[in-house]
Amino acid sequence: MSKHQNSSAINSRLPVQIDPIRLAVARQQLYGEMEISRFERLKELLTSSEGAVTVKFDFDVDSNNVRCVTGTLVAELSLCCQRCLQPMKWQLDTDVALAFVEHEHQIDELVVDYEPYLIDATPLMLSDMIEDEILLALPQVPMHDESICKPAVDINHPVEQQEVQDNISQATDKRENPFAVLAGFKPDSKE
Ligand SMILES: [Zn+2]
Repeated sequence: MSKHQNSSAINSRLPVQIDPIRLAVARQQLYGEMEISRFERLKELLTSSEGAVTVKFDFDVDSNNVRCVTGTLVAELSLCCQRCLQPMKWQLDTDVALAFVEHEHQIDELVVDYEPYLIDATPLMLSDMIEDEILLALPQVPMHDESICKPAVDINHPVEQQEVQDNISQATDKRENPFAVLAGFKPDSKE
């Protein structure tokens, strides 16, 4: 069906909504791709929303009875370089390790292996969970390598000369015109 068909682990149909606790208890795996264009918050930070994120999520209940998901998110994103303001390809490849908690007091009980993910209502949008993790993984100030990037504003622009020229012309205007002095001695021409 698609050119990705040979990557057998990928099941391209990801559910829209999930109950993460239930998936953890069932030790379910969700492998697939999600279109970048579905992430409204992320899209505002991108110069192009083409492509997809490859999602590999393994839901589990670990030996400490923590209901969790571990996995990876991989995508090529088009960020905006903050030095030259041009598009910049950036490889997302982030590990995910979330523990699902239903009450804030459970967060303190968690071992450090996971980030807490507070669930206020189920089912939740799988895309929201994925988008949250992508946003956390983005560089704070994306920038090209300095060797291939020029600042958008030319900091070497010469100092403005106009002010100096204005001062010169003002001084010239104030100089007395010698002919105006002579005009005062002009003989009366009405005879
Ligand atoms: Zn740049």
